[in-house]
Amino acid sequence: MHEFRYDPVQLPASAQILRSDVRTFIAEEVASGAFTPSRNSWNTFDADFSRRCGERGYIGMRWPKQYGGHERSALERYVVTEELLAGGAPVGAHWVADRQSGHQILRYGSDRAKQTILPKIAAGVCFFSIGMSEPDSGSDLAAVRTRAIQVESGWKISGTKVWTSGAHRTNYLIALARTGPKEEDRHAGMTQFIVDLSHPGVTVRPIYNLYGGHDFNEVVFDEYFVPDDMILGGVGMGWKMVTGELAFERSGPDRFLSTYQLLLESIRAIGPDPDDRSANEIGRFVAHLATLRRMSTSVAGMLERGAQPIVEAALVKDVGTTFEREVPETFRHLIPTEPTLGEGGSYPELLGMTILRAPGFTIRGGTREILRGMIARGLGLR
Ligand SMILES: Cc1cc2nc3c(=O)[nH]c(=O)nc-3n(C[C@H](O)[C@H](O)[C@H](O)COP(=O)(O)OP(=O)(O)OC[C@H]3O[C@@H](n4cnc5c(N)ncnc54)[C@H](O)[C@@H]3O)c2cc1C
Repeated sequence: MHEFRYDPVQLPASAQILRSDVRTFIAEEVASGAFTPSRNSWNTFDADFSRRCGERGYIGMRWPKQYGGHERSALERYVVTEELLAGGAPVGAHWVADRQSGHQILRYGSDRAKQTILPKIAAGVCFFSIGMSEPDSGSDLAAVRTRAIQVESGWKISGTKVWTSGAHRTNYLIALARTGPKEEDRHAGMTQFIVDLSHPGVTVRPIYNLYGGHDFNEVVFDEYFVPDDMILGGVGMGWKMVTGELAFERSGPDRFLSTYQLLLESIRAIGPDPDDRSANEIGRFVAHLATLRRMSTSVAGMLERGAQPIVEAALVKDVGTTFEREVPETFRHLIPTEPTLGEGGSYPELLGMTILRAPGFTIRGGTREILRGMIARGLGLR
C-alpha cells in the first residue's frame, strides 16, 4: 500500500524575495495597461506577456543556465507560478512548456532538442501543447491509435489527436504514438515525439468549447516525419514519459486557483459584514485553500528531491479541482445575481463565464473517476 505523505516544506528566504519581485512586476504590468487581470489566467494566451516573463527569468527557472534556465529550486518556481496565477496574469502561452514539456525535454531529450528548444522556451518565445488524447482514447491512454512507422533516420506519424489546447497558436506539441504492437503489457510499444507544428503533414482544426471559445483543437497527422533526435526518452518509453509528465501537470497551484479571482470578488461582493452562512462558506474555502496549498507545496518539495509523487499529485488535482468547481456553485446561491456571458469584468460576467468553464476543470489532465481510481489503488482499496 502506498504511504501518503505531505511533509510540510519551508519556503526559502529567496522565495519570499521572488514573491515581492513578481508582485511588483504584475503591479507595473497592470498599471501600464499591458494586461487586465484575467479570471482565466493559465488559459489566456499572450505571447508578449510570456516574452516579458522570459526576460524577468520566470520561465525555465529550474533548468541549467546552459539551456537558458536560471538554476532555481522547485519551491522558488512554485512561488512565481502561484503569484502569477493569483495576480490573474495571462500566462497561457508558456504555461505547458514551462510546467511539463521543457522539463521532459531536459530530462529525456536529445542534445539537439535541448540546445535548440529549451533556450527559446526560457526566453518566452516558444510554446508547447500536449498531444495525448484521441477520439477513442482520453482516459485510457494505452489505447492510442496514432501510429509511428520507422523510416530512414526517423519516423512517420499518422493519426488524430483531440482536445489539444492551444495547438493553433503553439510551436510544438509532444505526441504520444504507438510504435510497437499491442502486447500483453498494454503499456508497452508507445513512444513520445516532439512535433514541430509548422512543418507539413500536420493539420490543426478548431473545436469550439461550451462558451463558444476556441481553446482546443483536433490535430491530424498525415505521414508527418519526425527525425530520430526528436524522440523523448527512447522508443517504447512513452508510457513512462506520460505518467511522469502527469505528476507535473497535476500537482501545481493551477489545479486549485482557476476560480481564485471569483473567490476574491465574491468575498468583496459580500462585504465586511457577512451573514452566518456566508461567513461559514468563506471560512471553509479559505481553510481548504490553505490545506491545498500545503499539499501542493509538499509535492513541489518531492519533485525537487527527484521523487515521482504520482498518487500524491493525483490527490491534489482531485481535491483541488473539486474546490475550484465548488466556488461558483456556492457563491451563485449566496449572492443574488443573474450570471451573464461576456469578458467585460463585471461580477455577473465573471460568475457566468466561470460557471461555463468549470466542467472542464475536473476533466482536463485526468477525470475525477480516473484520479480516484489511482488514489484507491494507492490506498490498497482496489
Ligand atoms: C479544457 C480541456 C482541455 C484539454 N486539453 C487537452 C490537451 O491539451 N491535450 C490532451 O491531450 N488532452 C486534453 N484534454 C482532454 C482530456 O485530458 C480528456 O478529455 C480526459 O482525459 C478524458 O478523456 P475522454 O474525453 O476521452 O473521456 P473518456 O475517457 O471517454 O471518459 C468519459 C467518462 O467516463 C469515465 N471513465 C473513463 N474510464 C473510466 C474508468 N476506467 N473508470 C471509471 N470511469 C471512467 C470518465 O471519468 C468520464 O467521466 C482537455 C480536456 C479539457 C476539458
